[in-house]
Amino acid sequence: MSTEPARQEQCPDCGAQLDLTEAEEVGDLVDCPNCGAAFEVVALTPFTLVAFLDEEK
Ligand SMILES: [Zn+2]
Repeated sequence: MSTEPARQEQCPDCGAQLDLTEAEEVGDLVDCPNCGAAFEVVALTPFTLVAFLDEEK
């Protein structure tokens, strides 16, 4: 049996630990529980996040 360790990344904005258990694919969005910023997964190897800007309006 193998156990995959949970991915742990820090918020680029505030440094809070992000929960990435549901960010498994490129294009997934991750919300920072601390500052509320949103990030998009742009690569998995290495795991890379970029700020997601909601500027539809
Ligand atoms: Zn943050």
